[in-house]
Amino acid sequence: MERLWSDFLNSEWHDWRGSGKSGDRLGQDKWQEYFLGSWGLKATVPADEDEILHMRKFRKQLHELASRLADDSQMNTEDWALLNEYMKLGVVRRQFAGEGEGIELKLTPINDDWKQVLAEIAASFGQTLLEGGDGRIRICDNPDCRWVFYDDTRNRTKKYCDDKTCGNLMKVRRFRARKKAEHDPDEMENGSS
Ligand SMILES: [Zn+2]
Repeated sequence: MERLWSDFLNSEWHDWRGSGKSGDRLGQDKWQEYFLGSWGLKATVPADEDEILHMRKFRKQLHELASRLADDSQMNTEDWALLNEYMKLGVVRRQFAGEGEGIELKLTPINDDWKQVLAEIAASFGQTLLEGGDGRIRICDNPDCRWVFYDDTRNRTKKYCDDKTCGNLMKVRRFRARKKAEHDPDEMENGSS
């Protein structure tokens, strides 16, 4: 399931089919509108140059952190401090909303700007860690894809962003590699090609 922070990280995309194509959607008006609309956030579109630089910087830091966690590392004090630094950029209003059993504490962003958006992303990342521990952040196992996602399966074994796309593609690749090895026994003995 896509989260605010993973949607943000995946604004830098890579063609999972292996064409080598990649792109950065963060600077595009269309992506900015989509992103704000999807997560109920407000800021000026288009974001100005400084705001885009600031967002790219955070995206890089958060991507490094997500990769480390996906690699079985754990959050340390500096990692939490990084999230706190970004959360300082936005202020929220606390409000009890809903009815009866459904009452919940709602945090509503105060500022309609990209700094607030960064604060919300940092909060969403930290919240995800509190909910599920840091062992559920994944990077798709297809080396061409590298999609960042949150593994919400019960046994934490999700390897691909999507089994129908990347999962299938990698299955076909393994099958072809095996066939090739069968036709060329030397290569199989050597174990690599
Ligand atoms: Zn993938």
